[in-house]
Amino acid sequence: MGDLTDRLAQGLPAGAVVADPDVTAAYSRDMAGFCAAGAPAVVVFPETVEQVRHVMRVATELRVPVVPQGARTGLSGAANAVDGCVVLSLVKLNRILEIDPVNRIAVVEPGVVNAELSRAVERLGLSYPPDPSSWESCTIGGNIGTGAGGLCCVKYGVTSEYVLGLDVVLADGRLLSTGRRTAKGVAGYDLTRLFVGSEGTLGVVVRAVLALRPAPAPQLALAAEFPSADAAGAAVCEVMARGLTPSLMELMDAVSVRAVNELGQMGLPESTQALLLVAFDGPDRVGELARVAELCRATGATGVVPAEDQAESDLLLAARRLALPAMDRLGTTMIDDVAVPRSRLAEMLNGVAAIAGRHGLTIGVVSHAGDGNTHPIVIFDAQDEEQAVRAQRSFDDIMALGLELGGTITGEHGVGLLKRDWLARELGPVALELQRQLKGVFDPLGILNPGKMI
Ligand SMILES: Cc1cc2nc3c(=O)[nH]c(=O)nc-3n(C[C@H](O)[C@H](O)[C@H](O)COP(=O)(O)OP(=O)(O)OC[C@H]3O[C@@H](n4cnc5c(N)ncnc54)[C@H](O)[C@@H]3O)c2cc1C
Repeated sequence: MGDLTDRLAQGLPAGAVVADPDVTAAYSRDMAGFCAAGAPAVVVFPETVEQVRHVMRVATELRVPVVPQGARTGLSGAANAVDGCVVLSLVKLNRILEIDPVNRIAVVEPGVVNAELSRAVERLGLSYPPDPSSWESCTIGGNIGTGAGGLCCVKYGVTSEYVLGLDVVLADGRLLSTGRRTAKGVAGYDLTRLFVGSEGTLGVVVRAVLALRPAPAPQLALAAEFPSADAAGAAVCEVMARGLTPSLMELMDAVSVRAVNELGQMGLPESTQALLLVAFDGPDRVGELARVAELCRATGATGVVPAEDQAESDLLLAARRLALPAMDRLGTTMIDDVAVPRSRLAEMLNGVAAIAGRHGLTIGVVSHAGDGNTHPIVIFDAQDEEQAVRAQRSFDDIMALGLELGGTITGEHGVGLLKRDWLARELGPVALELQRQLKGVFDPLGILNPGKMI
């Protein structure tokens, strides 16, 4: 260990190598519950690409595992330490290097916080669309690591659609450049996409070229109350089938509505079984909202309330962003992340309700409804062992249901440790074998984030 810290310190600034166990323990896990975390040997905070390369060269030479970390807001244990590892925190590589309005790109270091980038490009009339609810704290490196989604994906897509090129430090310290700065480009295999969602298992992202879009108009939203998941699901299908393009389409169930009201005094309607929030940011926002209001009524909405102004719209969206922290207050939570074809959203929601009934537990659900991406949140008392077993079974049943409906075990949070056992079920043996071979090509010694995802 002395050798490791000494060797690391030779290429890093004073204070950038921390071996104090009280501090390293604080960097041992992300925000996922129920995932094992080891004790890191050391946490390092490089500030330059060259310093990251130094860390990887030392790790390769000494055969020490390395766990890259952003802000540790991840929900799958993908950033959790393994025993004796180097935790490689990228939070100090946090410069926005370039914003280029002509080519509509930003070049950033991985530690830049998502909301900071959004605000910086907004000042130039541009937007960086991927907007996870954790955007005020999560980093671009972490977003790339997980392939993060967010609230506006229904119109603008997920992180992978905005990553044009990457600089990546490989396990042995070599620097790889992938992709491009151009609007188009198809030269060679698309290694850039391979790194998006690779959870720090293939290389360390040290620079990203990101696509920007012109800033849209502020969103205008409505809230529609439904008596059932079936009716709300039908409204979602109608909106999409009619060719409307909302910038946001989120669904909150009764449990999440109550929890948000308790936390934020939001005044959301508590009699609803399913509260659909729909927003538009195009030139005919008012007209499009009126069409959605009609469709909601036709599919059984008992109440449709368009926001009167921007402030009211912002409040509705803020209420949705509060859903996860609000439900965290109700007990211990296991957050699932199953995505199904949006045409099967109602079946998924009804199935989750049946699972909750079968296991005698409360499961609150918030969904990125326009993407068919549900977050069923199993709420239980962790002190009660028998309840904890039922919670785990519910969590597993939810993933099985998602696969049965033609979906995926994770729409945006990633596999990490939490869903590693389930990956094989989704991929099948051929894809799993090829993915393991790919890992071996990039990381032959298996030192990069070992035991995660694959
Ligand atoms: C309240 C709350 C709301 C959330 N809402 C959303 C949401 O709407 N959508 C969504 O997708 N997620 C959401 N998340 C999950 C989380 O914020 C995202 O997964 C986010 O992308 C993680 O970013 P991070 O900087 O915290 O990364 P970390 O958690 O630190 O790391 C995530 C993964 O990326 C890897 N990694 C980090 N940096 C690098 C790098 N430079 N190079 C290579 N690998 C790297 C890590 O090894 C790890 O595997 C939410 C989390 C919370 C707590």
